[in-house]
Amino acid sequence: MFFRISLKSSKREELIDITPEVRRIIRDSGVKYGVCFLYVPHTTSGIVINENADPSVRSDIEDTLMKLVPKDARYKHLEGNADSHVKSSMVGNTTFVFIENGDLVLGTWQGIFFAEFDGPRRREVYIKIFKEV
Ligand code: ZN
Repeated sequence: MFFRISLKSSKREELIDITPEVRRIIRDSGVKYGVCFLYVPHTTSGIVINENADPSVRSDIEDTLMKLVPKDARYKHLEGNADSHVKSSMVGNTTFVFIENGDLVLGTWQGIFFAEFDGPRRREVYIKIFKEV
């Protein structure tokens, strides 16, 4: 089963919690046991699983990536978003989560975040759910 989440980022760089949306899609799919694959079809964004309990973790990740890969450095790609491409590559654009009892199997403090590195923009996350046989 194929689904997509459409979202709109509001900043140039931010992590957006999409866990509730993914949970809803899994519930709607009716799949009780299986795997949920998430794929971001963009070159300047990504997807990460990390803590969603304390919001300062999210901003620490955002700030650290900004420090590691500054916007203005000597890049060859002259579109003004070379840093965004690099951050996207570092973070990756795929992840997966197991499904048990019709829900995501995440650690207590974990959430799924869409990682924006060149916003604000309209973005999509593709989701494929495989049912365990
Ligand atoms: Zn570019």
